[in-house]
Amino acid sequence: MKTTQPATATAASRKGAPMTMKSKESQTIQITRSGSQPATRGPAEYFTGSVRIDPLFPANDPLQASGGLVSFDPGARTAWHTHPRGQVLIVTSGTGWVQQWGGPIEEIRQGDVVRIPPGQKHWHGATATTAMAHIALTEQVDGKVVDWIEKVTDEQYLAGSRPRGEQK
Ligand code: MN
Repeated sequence: MKTTQPATATAASRKGAPMTMKSKESQTIQITRSGSQPATRGPAEYFTGSVRIDPLFPANDPLQASGGLVSFDPGARTAWHTHPRGQVLIVTSGTGWVQQWGGPIEEIRQGDVVRIPPGQKHWHGATATTAMAHIALTEQVDGKVVDWIEKVTDEQYLAGSRPRGEQK
């Protein structure tokens, strides 16, 4: 049987391959095996308490998001910070807290999905008595995913909501 495909597409279409020719590398599925990437500790400059960060994947053009699994011991939390393009947190175990500046502390549990808007000052972490782990998905802007501000004080961490009028 004679083919009616244009000459330029025959090589790719003959065996059912995609019509568009892209580089083999970018078109090949990549599997990063569990446990193949070393964990790091959340640095004391930006975290309070014991925090382990397991990298999942870096941003890889054209995908601008990176992913990491962050595990907080009871009492552990991030400092106040913002993300230029926002962030999505998927709670994978335990119970924790999240708070945006001027808002109440919200409890988050395994399976909850938290969307942090771009530029919104916030923190996230474990509760004072329970551990919490979440996957964090964060888009970069010019290679930057986070702007750190100040540490969350014990008073802020344990307070619940802040008084009105203190927002900046
Ligand atoms: Mn965040």
